[in-house]
Amino acid sequence: MDNCIFCKIIRGEIPSRKVYEDENTLSFMDVAGDVDGHILVIPKKHVTNVLDCDKETLDQTIETVKKVANHLTEDCGYEGVNILNASGQPAGQSVFHLHFHIIPRKSTDPFTGWPVYPGAKEEIEDVHKRVTMID
Ligand code: AMP
Repeated sequence: MDNCIFCKIIRGEIPSRKVYEDENTLSFMDVAGDVDGHILVIPKKHVTNVLDCDKETLDQTIETVKKVANHLTEDCGYEGVNILNASGQPAGQSVFHLHFHIIPRKSTDPFTGWPVYPGAKEEIEDVHKRVTMID
């Protein structure tokens, strides 16, 4: 995709701080500067997000997420990771090339990795009826 910023990183047209690369995926430092160690994992094939991603590409990308996460916890002194993905603009996606955020974590971190939600407003039974795929 000509104008996709992550495709430009893959093609080397924009610099990145690479963490891992193989034939199908790339991992590099996120430049947000919001939390130490913020890392992204992307497929080299341009897909928008989880919603339009084919199984093979998703499998390859998740395999790299696991590789990087294991490296962080086994070799880099971290104790856990948060793995985050936004699929779709209403979910907070701002770059429309599939990516998973990896936030390395330590038990002493003074923050939670989970979004702060406003509290459920609907009855759980009502939502369950609407979303369940089980007859
Ligand atoms: P999202 O909002 O979930 O789509 O995440 C997009 C992420 O891409 C943000 O965390 C940005 O900081 C990150 N980002 C945007 N441009 C670059 C870049 N050139 N290099 C590294 N990370 C980037």
